[in-house]
Amino acid sequence: MPLERCQFCTARPREETAVLRWRADSDERERLTLWLCTRHLERMQRSGTRGWAHQGWLHKIGWW
Ligand SMILES: [Zn+2]
Repeated sequence: MPLERCQFCTARPREETAVLRWRADSDERERLTLWLCTRHLERMQRSGTRGWAHQGWLHKIGWW
């Protein structure tokens, strides 16, 4: 069952999205599937391969 809210805010999620999460200062990589609202989905899309920074992590859409 889908979550009622976005991973990063209280908005309703739009879609489940494959997200690669990493730290700028390490080789650690995590492949996650997150529910995102339109706003956060667009933020990640805009950040592209540089990644969207949030709470010490960088995030981009796609696992590759
Ligand atoms: Zn959101």
